Amino acid sequence: MATFTLNNQSKLPPTQKLFIDDPYQTSCEATVLHVQDDLVVLDQTVFYAESGGQVADRGSIDGVEVKDVQKQPGKLIYINRPDIEVPVVQVDTVVVHQLTQPAPFEIGQKVRLEIDWSYRHLLMRYHSATHFVLHALDRIYGQEEKLYLKGCYIYDESARLDYSNKFNPDLIPEVTKLTNDLIDRGEDIIMESDPSTKDISYWRYGDIIMPCGGTHVRSAKDIGVVNIRRKSHGKSLDRIYISLT
Ligand SMILES: [Zn+2]
Repeated sequence: MATFTLNNQSKLPPTQKLFIDDPYQTSCEATVLHVQDDLVVLDQTVFYAESGGQVADRGSIDGVEVKDVQKQPGKLIYINRPDIEVPVVQVDTVVVHQLTQPAPFEIGQKVRLEIDWSYRHLLMRYHSATHFVLHALDRIYGQEEKLYLKGCYIYDESARLDYSNKFNPDLIPEVTKLTNDLIDRGEDIIMESDPSTKDISYWRYGDIIMPCGGTHVRSAKDIGVVNIRRKSHGKSLDRIYISLT
């Protein structure tokens, strides 16, 4: 993950993240607040910055290709919920867009943002699929032992979960079945913001709730069929590969 150093970071207001309210919004207008070489900060954005394992969006700003999107560190928020564990979340963050060329913009200029929708939609399908797999792994293996998720990587062609647990390979077909049975219910996927801040959201499917700041499809019907593979990497790492057909 790249980090961008801005020379007036503290003066910039948090970026309005339009995908929180509507992950299906593909374009918007925004005002340029800061320009630094190939980096641009705007008042609002439809671009998802890399986080929670989901890679950054692709797209363009006034026709100039966006190469990467990252968040600056924000305020740390601790949420205490009795029903689910919520990781420490950074809120009020500034989103930095990196272009493929020096930014040809001036402060105050209005620009048009457009994301690569087919790419984002795939990421949304993969991110939603990943949540079902997380839940199924927990149901199948998590009764016997505590699961230790070490990493999560969501791309447009696959997703991967890294655990320091060793999973019994005989039970992987059960995980696959449970995942697809849940998806086959075809219910709506609901994203709810925490009452304290819009920057913390919960993914809900029936009675399954998970904290998540990513973008998701509206309905399980949009995901497709999930295939799962487990690969052992030494004594203390198992990788779960997720693909969609
Ligand atoms: Zn998530």
